[in-house]
Amino acid sequence: MTVDPDEPNWFTARHELDPSLPEGFPEPVLHRRPRKAYQHVGTGGWTGYWPPEDLAVRPDVEWTEAQKVLVLAAYQQQWGRFLESNQTYEINWPPEPCLVDEGYVVNGATVCNGHDGEDCMECEEFYERQDGEVRPAEWSWSAMIETYEGDGNSGSPERFEWFRFLTTWMDPREVDYEPFSTERD
Ligand SMILES: [Zn+2]
Repeated sequence: MTVDPDEPNWFTARHELDPSLPEGFPEPVLHRRPRKAYQHVGTGGWTGYWPPEDLAVRPDVEWTEAQKVLVLAAYQQQWGRFLESNQTYEINWPPEPCLVDEGYVVNGATVCNGHDGEDCMECEEFYERQDGEVRPAEWSWSAMIETYEGDGNSGSPERFEWFRFLTTWMDPREVDYEPFSTERD
């Protein structure tokens, strides 16, 4: 069975912003890559040898300078009071994604046109009932925040922390995976 991103039971990707981000934060734009170059999960879920998060390819998202400034500002607002007077925060951009949950897809029942029966012997036409289930895949996005000490060019990174600020939900069949193999290079 082939899967088509435009079929009716496809989960439409959406983003969930951390509440610390300001109203009107520009949502990242998600692009689709050519599907042929990658593996995808279908019904039955993940079948690769390695854990899915190891082979999942980072979503093709455009990140902007405007978002960078807003994410850093949100972090500063939450944690800036703990800074010493000679310390500043720097942000590493673009952020790093992590596949937290690969999700799953359960197809609807295949039933006949005439009686809505699964094992009908009289009808020739069958269709997939829209009673399947899709649990979306979940990506979390984090930016590394470094605390610098000293001023100007003499500053040095003292410590760093990951700031998780966005979750992206997408159809499990839309996650691109490197081709499955038992070898890792
Ligand atoms: Zn029938």
